[in-house]
This record gives sequence, structure tokens and C-alpha cells, in this order.
Amino acid sequence: MVFTIGIPLDENSSFLRGSAGAPAEIRRAFHSDSANYWSEYSLNLERHPKLKDDGDLKLPAMPTAFETITTAVSNRVQQGNKVLCLGGDHSITYPIIRGFAPHYRDLTIIHLDAHGDLYDSFDENRFSHASPFARIMESNLVSRLIQVGIRTYNSHQREQAQRFGVESVEMKDWSDDIRFIVEGPVYLSLDLDVMDPAFVPGVSHHEPGGFSTRQVLNIIQQLECNLVGADIVELNPSRDIHGMTAMVAAKCYKELLARLLMT
Ligand code: MN
Ligand code: MN
Repeated sequence: MVFTIGIPLDENSSFLRGSAGAPAEIRRAFHSDSANYWSEYSLNLERHPKLKDDGDLKLPAMPTAFETITTAVSNRVQQGNKVLCLGGDHSITYPIIRGFAPHYRDLTIIHLDAHGDLYDSFDENRFSHASPFARIMESNLVSRLIQVGIRTYNSHQREQAQRFGVESVEMKDWSDDIRFIVEGPVYLSLDLDVMDPAFVPGVSHHEPGGFSTRQVLNIIQQLECNLVGADIVELNPSRDIHGMTAMVAAKCYKELLARLLMT
């Protein structure tokens, strides 16, 4: 089975709150009568027998919220299921991966983002949405971290990337013929701001010069790997315009569900 879990947590955002409202908006766009439920490679996701949306987690305040997330993910993964989480801010990826890691050796993360999210600490918060991949790498939870689309590295984050052996295809070096062919299980973390703000105005951090929606969909569809889990994070409905970013998120959600069902 492929489970969807909503994680309405934005306590660890550094600049603007609002992403706690994202899971509801992504579901609303996914179920909108303006579109159908078919993925581009002809999978009908409506009432699919191998998909289950478990709704939103009821979260206590930090730091206990992270324990709730880890437990919810781990329980499902332990039974051989795949999990797709709808954030929330990007801080949730650390407790999610803590839920995956005990069940997978040699996990690779493909991380799509305008930002490296490798700060040792940000605003004195080591659980900040700017820090999840520092926590993941220093805890040795995965064997590879491949970052894609980053366009905001500073010297600290470059040092962190080097220290942790992070592989990175920076946005400035992107070419559409790049393919990700990975041995072993893969988790894909999609921060929507990897796309250009022209496509995703409803995110907290507008970082120009990013991917188009189409390029991100192609990356998802062309992954050559065993995809076992994913997240979609950082939609901020309070900044969205006519729900268009929620619709982009829902489109990525559809193609990720289809990709999770295929492998
Ligand atoms: Mn991020
Ligand atoms: Mn980002």
C-alpha cells in the first residue's frame, strides 16, 4: 500500500508561518472537479485499491511532534508500505527519515530544493526547516544525499555539504538530459520552492531562477530507482494566488503517487 499522511506542522519555519494549512489545500486541489484523477502514464488514482489517505496527524507541540511523526511513518513502513507525506515545513523530513531509516539499509535521498537546508542551526533552532539535512546526515540515517536545484549555498552550507559528502546538481549546472539512476531504495523530498516563483508563488521563500513545473514532473517520471517514499513540503496557502501553487503541488502529488505505485 501507499499511504498519504498530512503533517500540518510549521513551527520550525524561519520566515513565515502558514505551511501547516498546506495538506488541506493540496487535497482540495487533488479532488477538484477541474481535473481528473489520472496520472500522465495512465494510472487512475481515484479510489485506487493500493492508495490510502490517512488524513492529518494530530500533533503535539515541539519537540514531541517529531516523535509522533517518526512513529506514524515507522509503523507503516515496518509493515512493508510506502509513505507519502504532505507538509508542513521542511523540518518534517528529519523525523520522517527517522521513521524510514531503521527499515532500509542504503537509503538514498533525492532532495529537490532552492535551499540546501544544511544549517547546523538556524535562528537558534537545530530543528529548523533550514536544518533537516544536517540532522539526517550527522545521524547517519542514509547512505547518500543527492541535492538538486539548489541556488542559495553560502560558505557554511558548502562546508556542511562537503563534510557530509553531499552530492549536488546545482540549479546553475542543470541540464535536462540529467537522469537519476540509483541502486537501492530512494526517498524523494520535494520542497516546492525548487520551482521558479513564477510557477509556485505560494511558498514562503521566493527564490528566482528555478525549475518549471514540467521539469520537476519529468524528474519524477524519469527516476530509475526503487522509490519507497516521498514528501511535498513548503506550500504556504497564505501566499498563494487563486490556489495555483496548491494545484502544482497536487499535480506533483499525482505523479509521485503513480511513481510509488509503479515500483
Ligand atoms: Mn527546504
Ligand atoms: Mn526551500
